[in-house]
Amino acid sequence: MAPAIPSRLLYIGGQWRAPDLGGQIAVINPATEDTIGYIPAATADDVDLAVKAAREAFTKDNGKYWARTTGKYRAKFLRAIAAEVTARKSQLAELEAMDCGKPLDEAAWDMDDVAGCFDYYAGLAEGLDAKGHLSVELPMDTFKTNVLKEPIGVVGLITPWNYPLLMATWKVAPALAAGCTAILKPSELASVTCLELASIAAKVGLPAGVLNVVTGLGKDAGAPLSKHPGVDKVAFTGSTATGKSIMGAAAEIIKPVTLELGGKSAIIVFDDVDIEKAVEWTMFGVFWTNGQICSATSRLLLQENIASVFLERLAEWTKTIKISNPLEPGCRLGPVVSDGQYKKVMKYISTAQEEGATLLCGGKRPEHLSKGYFVEPTVFANVRPSSQIWKEEVFGPVLAVRTFRTEEEAIKLANDSEYGLAGAVISTDEDRCQRVAELLQAGIIWINCAQPTFTQAPWGGTKRSGFGRELGEWGLENYLSVKQVTKYISEEQWGWYPRPSKM
Ligand code: NAD
Repeated sequence: MAPAIPSRLLYIGGQWRAPDLGGQIAVINPATEDTIGYIPAATADDVDLAVKAAREAFTKDNGKYWARTTGKYRAKFLRAIAAEVTARKSQLAELEAMDCGKPLDEAAWDMDDVAGCFDYYAGLAEGLDAKGHLSVELPMDTFKTNVLKEPIGVVGLITPWNYPLLMATWKVAPALAAGCTAILKPSELASVTCLELASIAAKVGLPAGVLNVVTGLGKDAGAPLSKHPGVDKVAFTGSTATGKSIMGAAAEIIKPVTLELGGKSAIIVFDDVDIEKAVEWTMFGVFWTNGQICSATSRLLLQENIASVFLERLAEWTKTIKISNPLEPGCRLGPVVSDGQYKKVMKYISTAQEEGATLLCGGKRPEHLSKGYFVEPTVFANVRPSSQIWKEEVFGPVLAVRTFRTEEEAIKLANDSEYGLAGAVISTDEDRCQRVAELLQAGIIWINCAQPTFTQAPWGGTKRSGFGRELGEWGLENYLSVKQVTKYISEEQWGWYPRPSKM
C-alpha cells in the first residue's frame, strides 16, 4: 500500500513550526489528480525567522558550534543522513513518485544518488581539514601568506520539482560540508521529501539551525529568501525566468548567486551507429523523468542517410513505453508534474503541429488513462530551426528532430541555441566524438550515451543555462570563501618613510 503523506510543519532552528499566516498548499498526486496531503505555506516572516536561526547557528560560539568545526565533525552528520536515507529508501522513493509523478524505479535510483551524494561530501568535508590552510609561494622572503578556506556563510537554497530531494541534496550536502548553515526552499509542487530530509536531520541530531526547511510559493517564500540581506549566497536551480529575477534581487545587495537553469540540448546521431543502441539512448535522453530534465536532449540531429530507418525504429519503440501510475511495476513514463505543466506541454504540441512539424508518434493523452497529467511520449520530425518546438524548453516528453548532412552542419545547428547546458554525440568514430564534444557549446557532453550523471563530475551550464558548477569538488567551492592571511616575518623596520630627524 502507498505510504500516507506525513503531516509536517516548517523546520526552523531545529523546531517544527506552523507558518506565521497558517497557510497550507495541497499536495496533488499527478497520476490521480487527488489531494493526498498538505505542506505548510511559509511567507516572509517565516523566512526571516529561518534566516535568523541559520545566522545564529553560523555565529554561535564564534563558529565552534558548526561553521568552524572540523570537517571530520560535520562529516559524521552527513554520513548519518546518508545512512538514514538508505534505511528509508523505499518509503522516500514512493513519496517522491506520488508527489512529482516520476516512475518508482527512477525515484529509487534518486534515493541511492541522494545517499551517495551525502557520503561523497562527507569525504570532501574530511579532506578540507588538510586543505584548510594552504601556503602560497611569494617572491619576497620577508612575507608569508596562507590561504584559508572558510564557509561562505548563511546560504539560501532554492530548488525545483523534477528531482525534488536530489536537487536539494546537490546543494545541502556541499553547503553543510563546507560549514555553511542553510535555508532550503523546495518547489511548492514537490516538497514532501525535502520535509522528510528535515525529519532525518532532526533524527541524526544535526545541530539546530544548521539546516532549515521552509516550504511555500516562489513569490511568498522564495523571493523573500533571495532578497534577504541576512543571506550571504543564493544557490538556485529552476527556470531561466526565475533565475533572472533571483539574480536581479541579489544584484541589489551584491550577493553571489549560482544559477542552474533550463536547457534545449542536442543529441547528434551519425550514420555509423548501431541503430538499436542509438535509438535507446535517444529515448532515454528525452523521456527519462517524464521528459522533465533540464539536460533533456530534446533536439535530435540525425544524419540524413539513416533518418528513415532510425525514425521508424524510434517511433515503433517509443509507442511501447509503459505509461502508468508511477507506482506500478515496470512504469517507464509517469504523468507530468501538474495540471499547469500538462497544459503547457499540450500547447507546445499543438503549436508544433500548427508550425508544420510532422508528428511521428504521441501528441496526446494516452487512451488507457482518463485521469492524471499524462502525455504520450511524442516525436516530431521535419522541425524547422525557427519553430518554437526547436527553440524553447518544453520540459515534457517531446522530441524534435532535424536531419543533417555534414558534421559541420550538425555542430552549427546544435550550437544555434540560447541555452548551453548539455549535448550528446553518438558515433563509432572516436576522433569525431572527441572533436564534436570540444566544439559543442555546453557544460556537460555525453559521448555514446545521454543523461548518466555522477556526483564526482561537475554539473552546470553556459549561455542562458546559467553559471557556476555543482557536484564534485566544484560543488564544494560554491560554498567556500577564500581568505588570504599575509604576515610580515622580518625583524627589520619596513623603512618606507624616512625617520623624522630628532629636533
Ligand atoms: P521555477 O523557476 O518555476 O521554480 C524553481 C524554484 O524557484 C521553486 O522552488 C519556486 O518556488 C522558486 N521560485 C519561483 N519564483 C520565485 C521568485 N520570484 N523568487 C525566488 N524563488 C522563486 O522552476 P521549476 O518549474 O520548479 O523547475 C523547472 C525548471 O528548472 C526548468 O526550466 C529546468 O530546466 C530547470 N532545472 C534546471 C536544472 C539544472 O541543473 N540546470 C535542474 C533541474 C531543473
